[in-house]
Parts: sequence; structure tokens; C-alpha cells
Amino acid sequence: MRIIFVNTETKINEKSRTAPPQPLNLSTPVVHIRQKLIWAQSIQFIRPIVIEIPFFGINLHHKTRPMIDTPRHQGLRKKLVEGLKIKGIKDETVLAAIGRTPRHAFMESSFINFAYKDQAFPIGAGQTISQPYTVAFQSQLLDVFPLCKVLEVGTGSGYQAAVLCQMGAKVYTIERQRELHIKAKNLLQELGYHMSFFMGDGYKGLPTYGPFDRIVVTAGALSIPEELPKQLTVGGKMVIPVGPPDKQEMLLITRIAETDFKTEKHGSFIFVPLLKGVVNQ
Ligand code: SAH
Repeated sequence: MRIIFVNTETKINEKSRTAPPQPLNLSTPVVHIRQKLIWAQSIQFIRPIVIEIPFFGINLHHKTRPMIDTPRHQGLRKKLVEGLKIKGIKDETVLAAIGRTPRHAFMESSFINFAYKDQAFPIGAGQTISQPYTVAFQSQLLDVFPLCKVLEVGTGSGYQAAVLCQMGAKVYTIERQRELHIKAKNLLQELGYHMSFFMGDGYKGLPTYGPFDRIVVTAGALSIPEELPKQLTVGGKMVIPVGPPDKQEMLLITRIAETDFKTEKHGSFIFVPLLKGVVNQ
């Protein structure tokens, strides 16, 4: 067992991971995204590049806000990905998605210079943007495949949702705080990410939109919210940190049959709490 340094939202013990590396399915729209980026990267030495952020599905006529992504940002992102590899993230799809997601766009302006540090930072409303290692670890455990239907509980800044979208998932994300829900929705839409945004209590999931192939909860739950496992497909997986506020166990729950669930433990983390109800301001 390895001890990993602790921050506000950090893994503190690591056990070996199980999900095998998942190659990009080159028959999906991800190919187009990649081609676009390869082209963009090839001109980066001429001037700071303006990337139209990739999105789920093809819609070349959608409205986007051009995103300034300088060679410095790209260099820092590359370093971040190298750091994640050293910390044990092996899934190439996850690493590629983190390498393509401009975390600086999701940060509050006062923290923008720290965007590529492997740390959680405040995003307002008493919440944090997840630490990249945590995002990578949960995404890796989730074992996402292209076009799979993923429910994320806790939109927050929208960064984890963007990473899942980059991995080719169809993302449904829910947030209980209106301020964060609106901010993330506007940002992700302006950047060109296509996903579904919901304002509500993720404890209950999204029964009318399920079942989901994957569910990821990005806040620490005292216990497993009863409604969530029921919204998994058979064969579906849920990644959720569960435990008291000072330390949660990362659980991987697999629905192996209609009424049969398997639970695996994947080390300890500290998350902001999963809370009931909504905040409408
Ligand atoms: N995935 C986010 C992490 C945000 S922190 C990111 O990448 O930035 C966790 C988020 O979960 C917070 O925004 C918090 O408001 C939200 N949250 C907590 N309890 C919730 C609930 N019951 N339903 C939906 N969102 C919840």
C-alpha cells in the first residue's frame, strides 16, 4: 500500500486499480476531435492557438466561445498528465481526456495560475473543483466506453463532466446549488460541450432519464443513496465515495443482475459532503 499526499479532496491510501485501459473507439466522433486537435497543435508554434473545444457528437454549426489555450497551458497540462501517470493512472483514455481538457477555463480567476497543479481549489458557493488525480481515479474506475450514458452527481465547476465528455460519454450532470448549476451550464455550453444539465438533488438520481451505464458521485456520501444503484443498467457501474466527513472509502458498485450488486473498495479520499435538498440562490 502506498501513501499519497493529502489535500482537501485527496486520496490517502491507494490500492491496486482494476479497470483495464480502454482504447479510444476510433469509429466515434472522438476521431474528429483528435484530428481537429492535431491540426491545432501543428500551428501552435506560429501563435497562441485558439481551440474550439471538442464536444460530444458532431454539430459544426453550434455556437462556441473560442478558448485561448496557449503553448504554456498545453505544456503545463502535459506535465500534469505525466504526474498522474507517476501516481498510478494508467487508462490512456482518461489521460488523453485530461490532456485535452483546459482546466484553466473552469477555475476562479484568482486561482487560474494554479490550474494545472494537482490540487482541489475553491469554485465559490463553498465548493471545490476536484483534484485532477481524483477526477482521473474516478474516471478510470468508472471504465467509461464511447457513447455510454453517464450520470454525474455534483456538477460543481463542470470539469469532471467535461473530462467524461472528452472520453466520449453521453453525460447527464446534476447539481444542487443553482449558482453552480447555472455557471457550469453556461461555461460548458459556450465552450461547445454537449451534455444534459439538471438542477436538483442528486440523492434521488434522475429516474426519468435512467437507466445509466455509469454513475459517478463527486461528493462524499454518509451512506449509499438508495435510489442510485436502482438507476444502473444490469452490468452498470457506480463510483461513489462513502463514509464520514473526514474520510470516505471509494466504492465501485457493479450491478451484476437485476437484484444483485457487487461492491469493491478502492482506497480512502476526502470529498466535500453530499447534501440533501437544493440551494436555490
Ligand atoms: N465534479 C465537480 C466536483 C464538485 S464538488 C467538479 O469537477 O468540479 C461536489 C459538488 O457536489 C458540489 O458542487 C456540491 O454542491 C454538489 N453536491 C453536493 N450534494 C449534492 C446533491 N445531493 N445533489 C447534487 N449535487 C450535490
